[in-house]
Amino acid sequence: MDNENSENKFDTIIVGAGPAGTTAALVLAKAGLNVLLLERSSSPGSKNVFGGILYTTVLNRLVPNFWEEAPVERHIKGIKIYLVSPQNAVSIGVESEEHNQPPYNNSFTVSRAAFDKWYASKAEEAGAMLLLNTQVDDLLRVNGKVAGVKVRGEEGELYADTVILADGVNSILAEKAGLRKSYVPRQVSLGMKEIIELPRNVIEDRFGISGDEGVEIKYMAGDATKGIWGGGNIYTNQESVSLVTWLALDPLIKSKRKSTELFEQFKAHPFVKNYIKGGKTVEYQAHLAPDGGYDDTPRYFTDGLVIAGDAARFLNASLHYEGTNFAMASGEAAAKAILHARGLNDYSAKSLAYYQKLLEKSFVMKDLKRYRKMNHFAEKNPEFFGPYFDVITQAAVDYFAVKETPKRSQEWQMIKDFRKNLGKATKSRFPLLGFCWRCLKGGLSFL
Ligand SMILES: Cc1cc2nc3c(=O)[nH]c(=O)nc-3n(C[C@H](O)[C@H](O)[C@H](O)COP(=O)(O)OP(=O)(O)OC[C@H]3O[C@@H](n4cnc5c(N)ncnc54)[C@H](O)[C@@H]3O)c2cc1C
Repeated sequence: MDNENSENKFDTIIVGAGPAGTTAALVLAKAGLNVLLLERSSSPGSKNVFGGILYTTVLNRLVPNFWEEAPVERHIKGIKIYLVSPQNAVSIGVESEEHNQPPYNNSFTVSRAAFDKWYASKAEEAGAMLLLNTQVDDLLRVNGKVAGVKVRGEEGELYADTVILADGVNSILAEKAGLRKSYVPRQVSLGMKEIIELPRNVIEDRFGISGDEGVEIKYMAGDATKGIWGGGNIYTNQESVSLVTWLALDPLIKSKRKSTELFEQFKAHPFVKNYIKGGKTVEYQAHLAPDGGYDDTPRYFTDGLVIAGDAARFLNASLHYEGTNFAMASGEAAAKAILHARGLNDYSAKSLAYYQKLLEKSFVMKDLKRYRKMNHFAEKNPEFFGPYFDVITQAAVDYFAVKETPKRSQEWQMIKDFRKNLGKATKSRFPLLGFCWRCLKGGLSFL
């Protein structure tokens, strides 16, 4: 397989058998193309770290009722969101019997090692060729156009009409293609995760679930991350829970705090430890995730090449924290763009620009654009993730305090204390005004 005219030349080579690459492989193989899916690890998913919820709107279209055969852990029927200070917590929860019915709100906890392997086998069933233990080191070019990849080991050089890069957040190949630069701290967050084993009945009692039901507990920054923009989550699996923190790398570095210590403090937080007590840590993982939002996405295509998933920094790190469905949707769009180019028998950037059109029409670009101001807001308003959380949670505790003081006086006192505490926390002369203004700006950054 050493030249572009070889009979072993492929229609498309895809680098990386994560959700993005496998989706592209599945769609192209179903359309009858000769597809090669390359994965550096010994089994798809064995090296992939994520928090817990696989979002499956795209998957359920491509493999209807996939949950009947895929190795999923639990479907998410409830979400509980916490704002925490060292002593107090304010929480809001959503629980739904609708989410307890197929397609289960398209949210399932999974083990990536099990899921990615199963998903890649679906692409193989459709006709894609999966080559494991194959690290792609570089791109091949013919007349300036990407025309294949260079792999480590005996396969050497592999040629194709088009290449899809789906090699994850740290895509060195996208850099080699000249489409993006190496990440800077502002563009990524650091995720840390422990899988903690607990007996099934303990999980079900503790989280108020039964059968295959699952829940997600989200801790929004504040004391969960010691004031650093990010968050912490707990996800229920069948016989374990996943405990995760993600911390924006830039403020983490500036804080000079150790990520591992922050993780331990999160584990020991009074509102976290009760969920995991008595559990046994069976796995510890850490990984980067894209966090720059829309403004940090690169150019996604060039002659003979398109980029999908985390490699293109397609991840919605807002309240929703969705990466897997963005990966699958962009993988599908990449595949459709290649089919379009094939129809024209033109694999130039001009024809592959159709990829961008498809992305613009899908939730991928719409959501990325919608939250584009959020990261900038978080960067410029760190008080939201420290002092403000303390003051808000204290006000909520004061509001519900049971005293002999009449409620009206208690409410006025609460407002006075809220203002005073805000003033102390922010050292501002007009703390309430500043708080309301920032809340308004924060709200607008979500629009
Ligand atoms: C801590 C953490 C928590 C997260 N939580 C969630 C969550 O709960 N829900 C959610 O939807 N998203 C979550 N995400 C994001 C989600 O994991 C990613 O968005 C998603 O996995 C991206 O899929 P992908 O296919 O683009 O890349 P990946 O899943 O990273 O797959 C890339 C694949 O390419 C392979 N590869 C890399 N380089 C090469 C090479 N040179 N040659 C061959 N193979 C290569 C890798 O081995 C890997 O299998 C989380 C991420 C982190 C870090």
